[in-house]
Amino acid sequence: MTAERHEFQAETRSLLRLMIHSMYSNKEIFLRELVSNASDACDKLRFTATQNPEAVGDVELAVELIPDKFAGTLTVRDNGIGMTREDVVDNLGTIARSGTKKFMESLSGDQSKDAQLIGQFGVGFYSAFIVADRVTVKTRRFDSTESVVWESTGEGEYTIEAGDKAERGTEVILHLRDDEKEFLEDERLSEIVRKYSDHIGLPIKLVKSEGEPETINQARALWTRPKSEISEDDYKSFYEHLSHDYEPPLAWTHQKVEGNLEYTSLLYIPRRAPFDLWDREQQRGVKLYVKRVFIMDRAAELLPPYLRFVRGLVDTSDLPLNVSREILQGNRTVDKIRAALVKRVLDLLDDLAANKPDDFKTFWTQFGKVLKEGIVEDNANRERIAKLLRFASTTTPDAQSVSLDEYVARMPQGQEKILYLTGESPSALRNSPHLEGFRKAGYEVLLLSDRIDEWVVGHLTEYQGKKLESAARGDAEAAGKIETADKARHETEFKQVLELLPKALNSRIASARVSARLTESPSCLVAPEHGLSRQLLEILKQSGESAPDIKPILELNAEHPLVERLKETSGDETAFADLAEILYGQAVLAEGGQLEDPAGFVKRLNKLILGQGGSKILLG
Ligand code: ADP
Ligand code: MG
Repeated sequence: MTAERHEFQAETRSLLRLMIHSMYSNKEIFLRELVSNASDACDKLRFTATQNPEAVGDVELAVELIPDKFAGTLTVRDNGIGMTREDVVDNLGTIARSGTKKFMESLSGDQSKDAQLIGQFGVGFYSAFIVADRVTVKTRRFDSTESVVWESTGEGEYTIEAGDKAERGTEVILHLRDDEKEFLEDERLSEIVRKYSDHIGLPIKLVKSEGEPETINQARALWTRPKSEISEDDYKSFYEHLSHDYEPPLAWTHQKVEGNLEYTSLLYIPRRAPFDLWDREQQRGVKLYVKRVFIMDRAAELLPPYLRFVRGLVDTSDLPLNVSREILQGNRTVDKIRAALVKRVLDLLDDLAANKPDDFKTFWTQFGKVLKEGIVEDNANRERIAKLLRFASTTTPDAQSVSLDEYVARMPQGQEKILYLTGESPSALRNSPHLEGFRKAGYEVLLLSDRIDEWVVGHLTEYQGKKLESAARGDAEAAGKIETADKARHETEFKQVLELLPKALNSRIASARVSARLTESPSCLVAPEHGLSRQLLEILKQSGESAPDIKPILELNAEHPLVERLKETSGDETAFADLAEILYGQAVLAEGGQLEDPAGFVKRLNKLILGQGGSKILLG
């Protein structure tokens, strides 16, 4: 039978071009990728063997590296699961993952960084073309009688034909480029394997031209070894193998649990968020092993979504080997393990916060928003998660660095509630009129501008017995605390103005009143005591969801000249309405909102500046 020619997908082609032409500074990772694939293939076979022992036999699973100086080839051979012809086309001819495109987009131009990204994006096999100008794959699936040969020079096409491979498994033969012959040297190969693949749970053997094949890695799954024997570097290199992340992890926790529940967990906190942290389609989770047998990648059931940044694995003897994703859902053992893992991760984060503030800061910058989801999702651990939150505040407006504990500790006497303000952006918050009175009274206000913050404060209503209160809400007790002595007098003076305002503003406000919280700005809008906050209404509107029509309260600063003028124009209906519009519009703009009629607003403002219309009164 002659070889069939196939074209690569367009995306695969551009990826290949990139590999071949630009990734020279970190070539050795091709071996990590191929060994990782070979090891995955053996894991899959081991798993199959639990259900179908006869089909698999009892040959020792291993990966072999076979350098051939004479032919100029390096072969990576495994006796794992192997591939059918269909598998080969699907896995080596196309890149099904949506990740490829994102990968191409996220390249930085820095060659060493870009090369490191390859593995993370799950396009590892193609890294073979960094060092080879031709790659041949001979493979045979364990339960098939036919073998397949795939070959490509990495230039747009590949061929497939029937082969004569007798044993199951896969051989990847790299025809090394002339200047890549270092990868035929025993020493070099051993060095790379020790660096990246020392702790995978199967032997990697170097097949030398003379003598017996030599195992060049530890060949013992790292997590099964006693903690005392494992060095920091061991943990780090295992993380690299596990995650394909080139940056060392921020922290990890390794636990062997015996008793009612038996499992070993090894969990890492990465230093950097993956490119698809916010991709909802993306499956998350840690690897699951049952009695050392690899069962599945990304077992989402083992950790809640708000800890989806955690990498690592769980190995348990309390689940059956034939466990499926369906069985994992709602399984009591899994629930117990998950609850324990959540505690471990929170302990680890507590420890980081207490003992490595810089690392915790990195963590917060990368994953803080994800952790916040836990406030909404995890009732049981809400207080613990709240302890880990960090906020910007009127004291430190530029960084999310204030913890609730710190905030509470420096609350001045007389302040009973934890004050916060939510808004679109840090800068809009910093200058918000709502803060003026609190600032003057010496109260710190937390500034929340992440989208999820509305939900966070919706669920976190209390911390250490202190209620959380929005600085932009009605006649909150908090605002009452900064009441001015003149308020009662102002209320009488402005009684008529306050009554006229709702009608003058066409009922866009529920009511108007004299404010205690403004010291500089003339006006602001606040949400009524109960019901949704203004920021949440805005988010709902923006995302096209139906939002209840809750009207705000317009608050006026009785000491502001513009408000004084408003009082003086109350006899002139048009002038009063114009000025009312300006005060209302300013309040909307100040909280980062949008005007319904911006052009009308500008016209009125210009009229005011130029002293037209009610000029006599406006110019004073
Ligand atoms: P990933 O390993 O992240 O899935 P790769 O590009 O490294 O991405 O590999 C693509 C796919 O090719 C693998 O998922 C696997 O299905 C298949 N594959 C690669 N190498 C082997 C191998 N040695 N044995 C069996 N299948 C393999
Ligand atoms: Mg791979």
